[in-house]
Amino acid sequence: MDYQQILDTIKSDLSLMPCTGKVASYIPELAKISPKKIGMHLHCINSGHYSFGDNEERFSIQSISKVFGLTMAMSVLNDKFFERVDVEPSGDPFNSLIQLEYENGIPRNPFINAGALVISDILISELKNPKKDFLDFVHKITENDTITINPEVFKSEKECSFRNAALLNLMKSFGNIKNDIEEVLDFYTYQCAIAMSCKELATAFMIYANSGKRLSNGDQIISPQKTKRINAIMQTCGFYDEAGEFSFRVGLPGKSGVGGGIAAVHPGHYAVTVWSPPLNPKGNSELGMYALERLTTLTGFSIF
Ligand code: GLN
Repeated sequence: MDYQQILDTIKSDLSLMPCTGKVASYIPELAKISPKKIGMHLHCINSGHYSFGDNEERFSIQSISKVFGLTMAMSVLNDKFFERVDVEPSGDPFNSLIQLEYENGIPRNPFINAGALVISDILISELKNPKKDFLDFVHKITENDTITINPEVFKSEKECSFRNAALLNLMKSFGNIKNDIEEVLDFYTYQCAIAMSCKELATAFMIYANSGKRLSNGDQIISPQKTKRINAIMQTCGFYDEAGEFSFRVGLPGKSGVGGGIAAVHPGHYAVTVWSPPLNPKGNSELGMYALERLTTLTGFSIF
């Protein structure tokens, strides 16, 4: 398979695509990013790297960090914490409060904001230095310790975290948040503010394509069984109320973020990432979804 030729075709297809999406502005700092940025990076288990565009420029990974949070929680704890966060698709927007009220403060899954906030609460209880440990985990899976947060994005989101504070308060009223609300909000916002490039994210996501092992030296970061479960949750819940559409069009487990990034995996084959800031109405990168749909169409294979 000539992957570079396929990526070049995707690049030229993208240049002809009209884009009606809007860059996220509810976090003011994200609104400053050029809507023209576009990059893609494909990291194949057997044949290395293929890319185009702004694939080495760092951007705000936002909700893609929820996959790392879940991975850390699953590696330090047994299955018991799934009593506090379910594994069902929500069919609602990522920051919705509605289901939480009638489902007694138990979020539908770890990839909507409510679920990721519970995971943050769990990590605060379990880890000595949650922020440092989170960054250390990202450094370990990428073998790159230059990765860090964008402090402006962190500050900008902290100043307008009204919905996340509401989610935390509601869940705390049901007893599903154990730590101080401000502390959980601070840690959650911190992990969302991590900046990584498509290339770095593809390396990080390689563990989900490679049965939980780092590709460079075969270190087992998370067990194959847990990797299967994380991929299953990405498949069913990675795109909020557009998870079905992403499955239908792309056919890979993946996770999006409001910074315009999407990371996806074809287990046993590759990790792929794309970055294009304009978002569709469901909060997922419009051109990013299109690029990944073209990838599985042009290669002729997905997980299905
Ligand atoms: N930090 C963002 C928020 O909490 C993440 C949302 C996302 O990327 N979908 O709203």
